[in-house]
Amino acid sequence: ESRALAAKMADTLDKVAAMLREKMSELGKLDSYAGDGDHGTGMQRGSENAASAARKLLNEGAGAGTLLAGAGEAWSATAGGTSGALWGVILGAAGQGVGDADVPSAEKVAEIVDEVTTTLQQVGAAEEGDKTMLDALLPFTRALKDYVGQGNLAESWNKAATVAAGAAQQTADLSPRIGRARPLAEKSVGHADPGAVSLAYVLATIGEDL
Ligand code: ADP
Ligand code: MG
Ligand code: MG
Repeated sequence: ESRALAAKMADTLDKVAAMLREKMSELGKLDSYAGDGDHGTGMQRGSENAASAARKLLNEGAGAGTLLAGAGEAWSATAGGTSGALWGVILGAAGQGVGDADVPSAEKVAEIVDEVTTTLQQVGAAEEGDKTMLDALLPFTRALKDYVGQGNLAESWNKAATVAAGAAQQTADLSPRIGRARPLAEKSVGHADPGAVSLAYVLATIGEDL
């Protein structure tokens, strides 16, 4: 069962990589107002290498948790940048939560997402409102917890992903309090946080595949 889930995750990672290739210049532009402009290329490179690592692990017989952890290692090793390291943390924590034994229920998925969010917050030491990917991830996590149980996993996930997309756009009003965009903070106001926008895109792509 975990092997079937692993196969599905490898397919989803391919779709995430293809989507991020399409969004590469948009994300790079968002990161250019106050950041260093590398968010599009970093996300593209990280996700492509993560997808390749996942495919290799799948062919070697890996379960879902091992596949996610290996994909996260490849992402952080190749993407560069703060977001590359943090995406490694996200996938690593997700892999630990999912494990290689049983396919998690919808409720368990919501719990795992909560654990991933807590881990990301511990590692990155950002708070809500600092204008980071957390400003999309925290609303997503809360919404998923609320929606799960009202429908199947795909329905709950997609409703929560819509919340994340709205929250990512709302970061345009914020001024960055952490990360590379902080020194030019005022230039960032009026533009959404690149990491929040890309996270919302990834959540939507995952949802299409559930
Ligand atoms: P870098 O800033 O190192 O060039 P990227 O451009 O790839 O890396 O990623 C920038 C994004 O990383 C930001 O838009 C923000 O969402 C996210 N980010 C930066 N610092 C943190 C942090 N401490 N916690 C969570 N997310 C962060
Ligand atoms: Mg950058
Ligand atoms: Mg950079």
